[in-house]
Amino acid sequence: MVYGDGDGSTFSALVTLDICGHEMTHGVTESEANFVYSGESGGLDESMADVFGAMVERSAYGETSDTWLIGEDAYTPSTAGDALRYMNDPADDGYSHDYYSSSTSSADVHYSSGVPNLAFYLLAEGGTHPRGKSTTSVSAIGADAAASIWYRALATYMTSSTNFSGARTATLSAASDLYGATSAEYTAVGDAWTAVGVGTSSGGGGTSCTGYESSSTGTISSAGSASYVPSSSGFSGGSGTYLGYLEGPSSADFDLYLQKKGKKTWSTVASDTGSGTGRTVSYAGSSGTYRWVAYAASGSGSYTLCYDTP
Ligand SMILES: [Zn+2]
Repeated sequence: MVYGDGDGSTFSALVTLDICGHEMTHGVTESEANFVYSGESGGLDESMADVFGAMVERSAYGETSDTWLIGEDAYTPSTAGDALRYMNDPADDGYSHDYYSSSTSSADVHYSSGVPNLAFYLLAEGGTHPRGKSTTSVSAIGADAAASIWYRALATYMTSSTNFSGARTATLSAASDLYGATSAEYTAVGDAWTAVGVGTSSGGGGTSCTGYESSSTGTISSAGSASYVPSSSGFSGGSGTYLGYLEGPSSADFDLYLQKKGKKTWSTVASDTGSGTGRTVSYAGSSGTYRWVAYAASGSGSYTLCYDTP
């Protein structure tokens, strides 16, 4: 491995801890997922390198605001406080993407990496999108837990062609393995990806319910109204985990409920009434008649509801 000396102006010697951690992580990604180094898989390769470069620096120096800056100790040595990349606010470098769009797949892999970098930062530290591009609020799980989930996803679930949507699925699977599908960690992983515009579709953005058995789309035309999925009379399910994911418009606040039919009435057995676009419900239920309810707490518009029935 050869590191540059830098020119003393734009860069000092490129041998700082996060840069070395970044480059050596490329060795780890090569022997694990072995990402194709272009498009979204290339962006994931760069992001993994930034994430674990930052985690190496954190391990040695402790966690500070500099933890989330990449290359800050080598970049423009005469200017304090700047960095090559900013995991906490990727667009701060003037180039990196910080929310998934149709142009993210074709961006330079060092810039598309901003999307998963920000997802990781929000998962570790919590909060909302630094530039208000989404309203989802992510609950912090801490950098150690976030790194454990990311590493397991890389080593166990990601492959050479994994895209951003696949990374969402892989990290959710890893979170489920480590903490359980009903854990706060699992919910936070889904929220972190939703906050950067990465849903469940194969293209990376939006939602097409890949990985779920069933899906339904519809429109709620006014706040305070609800839609029943698959219908108000519900469906019959067995004993096991009822899993639902609801994505509504970013301008609205849609909530997700799971209801079970009693002798005469329906009662809510599980719900996710948080704010933001993506809501997840996981419920261990006995056999019976159930229905999903998408409810517009505020705003209106179209939704996608994905679900698994045991
Ligand atoms: Zn790299």
